[in-house]
Amino acid sequence: MTALIRSLNVLHGQLDACRKCPKMIGPVVHGPAVPSKIFLLGQAPGPHEGKFGRPFAWTAGKTMFRWFESALGCDEETFRSTVYMAAVARCFPGKAKGGGDRKPDDGEIANCQPWLQGEVGLLKPSLVLPVGTLAIEQVMREKKPLIEYVGKQLKAQYHGLAVDVICLPHPSGASTWHRMEPGIALLKKALQLLKKHPAVVDAFRKP
Ligand code: SF4
Repeated sequence: MTALIRSLNVLHGQLDACRKCPKMIGPVVHGPAVPSKIFLLGQAPGPHEGKFGRPFAWTAGKTMFRWFESALGCDEETFRSTVYMAAVARCFPGKAKGGGDRKPDDGEIANCQPWLQGEVGLLKPSLVLPVGTLAIEQVMREKKPLIEYVGKQLKAQYHGLAVDVICLPHPSGASTWHRMEPGIALLKKALQLLKKHPAVVDAFRKP
């Protein structure tokens, strides 16, 4: 086991014990200690991820992994073992009053930042893939419509690190953005950019 994987496992052990947010519903969910230069950032786990113990384990994940399979030709398990999967918040926020999952609030996002900072500090990713509006806003530090972000390769400073950014829409069934134009075309463009990015070419290179 490399020193990086050991350090990630130590961080995960501390993260698993985190109970900072009183409104959040455990367990803490995170991906495995994958020593990757590609850092995927989701929003927060839904109600099902906790029992599977991994992010994007339910229907939105199935859609997202289909996107990656179409672009990269890799199955879900290969993606999970090649890309580090993090999220803006690591616990299920519960349901929103109007239906759907509650978005993590500003305090919860702030509480979870040190975990992300620790992961970015260890991994030093060159490519960040924020998935959905909340994750995109956290990385780009600006609120703009999704059409301004998806389908472009951008640059950002993320936790003090200069990174390339390829934004993806949220694959949730509750969102129609990725199923209607211009979302369909912009998502396709984003996945083409992803396929060509040097970090992705390197990580998914067949032996
Ligand atoms: S959301 Fe993050 S900071 Fe809040 S309890 Fe869960 S792991 Fe801790």
